[in-house]
Amino acid sequence: MPSDPNCLFCKIVAGALPSTPVHEDDRVIAFRDIAPRAPTHILVVPRDHIPSAAELTENDGPILGHLFAVAAQIARSEGIADDGYRIVTNVGRWGGQTVDHLHFHLMGGRAFEWPPG
Ligand code: 5GP
Ligand code: ZN
Repeated sequence: MPSDPNCLFCKIVAGALPSTPVHEDDRVIAFRDIAPRAPTHILVVPRDHIPSAAELTENDGPILGHLFAVAAQIARSEGIADDGYRIVTNVGRWGGQTVDHLHFHLMGGRAFEWPPG
Protein backbone atom coordinates (compact mmCIF):
# COMPACT_ATOMS: atom_id res chain seq x y z
CA MET A 1 0.00 0.00 0.00
CA PRO A 2 1.27 3.55 -0.70
CA SER A 3 2.69 5.67 2.07
CA ASP A 4 -0.01 7.51 4.06
CA PRO A 5 0.95 11.18 4.65
CA ASN A 6 -0.99 11.20 7.93
CA CYS A 7 0.59 8.02 9.30
CA LEU A 8 3.10 8.38 12.14
CA PHE A 9 5.14 5.32 11.16
CA CYS A 10 5.15 6.28 7.44
CA LYS A 11 6.72 9.56 8.60
CA ILE A 12 9.35 7.68 10.62
CA VAL A 13 10.00 5.35 7.64
CA ALA A 14 10.49 8.44 5.43
CA GLY A 15 12.83 10.05 7.96
CA ALA A 16 10.43 12.96 8.41
CA LEU A 17 10.17 12.18 12.14
CA PRO A 18 13.13 11.13 14.28
CA SER A 19 13.50 7.70 15.87
CA THR A 20 16.22 5.60 17.47
CA PRO A 21 16.87 2.95 14.81
CA VAL A 22 18.19 -0.50 15.60
CA HIS A 23 17.77 -2.00 12.10
CA GLU A 24 17.13 -0.67 8.59
CA ASP A 25 16.96 -2.48 5.26
CA ASP A 26 15.04 -2.13 2.00
CA ARG A 27 11.81 -3.61 3.43
CA VAL A 28 11.88 -3.25 7.22
CA ILE A 29 12.92 -0.77 9.87
CA ALA A 30 13.11 -1.28 13.62
CA PHE A 31 13.38 1.44 16.25
CA ARG A 32 12.99 1.83 20.00
CA ASP A 33 9.48 2.44 21.35
CA ILE A 34 9.13 5.98 22.67
CA ALA A 35 7.35 4.71 25.82
CA PRO A 36 9.04 1.37 26.58
CA ARG A 37 7.04 -1.14 28.63
CA ALA A 38 9.99 -3.49 29.09
CA PRO A 39 13.80 -3.07 29.37
CA THR A 40 13.98 -3.89 25.65
CA HIS A 41 10.99 -2.63 23.64
CA ILE A 42 11.55 -2.31 19.92
CA LEU A 43 9.04 -1.84 17.10
CA VAL A 44 9.66 -3.89 13.94
CA VAL A 45 7.86 -2.21 11.04
CA PRO A 46 7.45 -2.89 7.32
CA ARG A 47 8.27 0.16 5.19
CA ASP A 48 5.01 -0.42 3.27
CA HIS A 49 1.87 1.04 4.81
CA ILE A 50 -0.17 -2.00 5.85
CA PRO A 51 -2.83 -0.78 8.33
CA SER A 52 -2.79 -3.86 10.60
CA ALA A 53 -2.43 -7.63 10.70
CA ALA A 54 -6.10 -7.79 9.68
CA GLU A 55 -5.13 -6.63 6.16
CA LEU A 56 -2.46 -9.30 5.59
CA THR A 57 -2.94 -11.86 2.80
CA GLU A 58 -1.12 -14.96 1.59
CA ASN A 59 0.93 -12.64 -0.64
CA ASP A 60 2.49 -11.04 2.45
CA GLY A 61 4.25 -14.27 3.47
CA PRO A 62 7.71 -13.06 2.38
CA ILE A 63 7.55 -9.74 4.25
CA LEU A 64 6.21 -11.48 7.36
CA GLY A 65 9.00 -14.04 7.25
CA HIS A 66 11.50 -11.23 6.91
CA LEU A 67 9.95 -9.25 9.82
CA PHE A 68 10.26 -12.27 12.11
CA ALA A 69 13.81 -13.05 10.96
CA VAL A 70 14.78 -9.42 11.68
CA ALA A 71 13.08 -9.59 15.10
CA ALA A 72 14.99 -12.77 16.00
CA GLN A 73 18.27 -11.20 14.86
CA ILE A 74 17.60 -8.08 16.97
CA ALA A 75 16.68 -10.25 19.98
CA ARG A 76 20.10 -11.90 19.71
CA SER A 77 21.94 -8.60 19.31
CA GLU A 78 20.01 -7.07 22.25
CA GLY A 79 20.98 -10.04 24.44
CA ILE A 80 17.40 -11.10 25.22
CA ALA A 81 17.25 -14.24 23.07
CA ASP A 82 18.48 -16.75 25.65
CA ASP A 83 15.98 -15.83 28.36
CA GLY A 84 13.13 -15.47 25.87
CA TYR A 85 11.00 -12.58 24.74
CA ARG A 86 7.61 -11.68 23.36
CA ILE A 87 6.52 -10.54 19.90
CA VAL A 88 3.08 -8.90 19.84
CA THR A 89 0.93 -7.15 17.27
CA ASN A 90 -2.24 -5.38 18.40
CA VAL A 91 -5.27 -5.12 16.12
CA GLY A 92 -8.02 -2.55 16.47
CA ARG A 93 -9.37 -0.69 19.46
CA TRP A 94 -9.93 -3.58 21.84
CA GLY A 95 -6.68 -5.16 20.72
CA GLY A 96 -4.86 -2.04 21.91
CA GLN A 97 -3.71 -0.75 18.53
CA THR A 98 -2.95 2.99 18.59
CA VAL A 99 -0.89 3.38 15.38
CA ASP A 100 -2.59 2.11 12.22
CA HIS A 101 0.58 0.90 10.46
CA LEU A 102 1.49 -2.76 11.00
CA HIS A 103 4.18 -3.20 13.64
CA PHE A 104 5.45 -5.94 15.89
CA HIS A 105 6.44 -5.15 19.46
CA LEU A 106 9.66 -7.00 20.33
CA MET A 107 9.81 -6.99 24.12
CA GLY A 108 12.26 -8.58 26.51
CA GLY A 109 14.53 -8.15 29.48
CA ARG A 110 11.86 -9.23 31.98
CA ALA A 111 9.28 -12.01 32.38
CA PHE A 112 5.79 -11.51 30.97
CA GLU A 113 2.47 -12.76 32.24
CA TRP A 114 0.04 -14.95 30.35
CA PRO A 115 -2.56 -14.11 29.30
CA PRO A 116 -1.66 -10.45 28.71
CA GLY A 117 -3.89 -7.90 30.45
P1 5GP B 1 0.20 0.01 19.38
O1 5GP B 1 -0.44 0.74 20.53
O2 5GP B 1 -0.39 0.49 18.06
O3 5GP B 1 0.23 -1.46 19.49
O4 5GP B 1 1.73 0.43 19.38
C1 5GP B 1 2.16 1.73 19.07
C2 5GP B 1 3.44 1.97 19.81
O5 5GP B 1 4.08 3.09 19.23
C3 5GP B 1 3.26 2.29 21.31
O6 5GP B 1 3.95 1.34 22.08
C4 5GP B 1 3.83 3.70 21.43
O7 5GP B 1 4.55 3.89 22.64
C5 5GP B 1 4.73 3.81 20.22
N1 5GP B 1 4.88 5.17 19.70
C6 5GP B 1 3.90 6.09 19.55
N2 5GP B 1 4.41 7.21 19.00
C7 5GP B 1 5.74 6.98 18.81
C8 5GP B 1 6.80 7.78 18.26
O8 5GP B 1 6.62 8.92 17.84
N3 5GP B 1 8.03 7.21 18.23
C9 5GP B 1 8.26 5.93 18.69
N4 5GP B 1 9.52 5.49 18.62
N5 5GP B 1 7.28 5.16 19.20
C10 5GP B 1 6.04 5.68 19.25
ZN1 ZN C 1 1.96 4.08 7.53
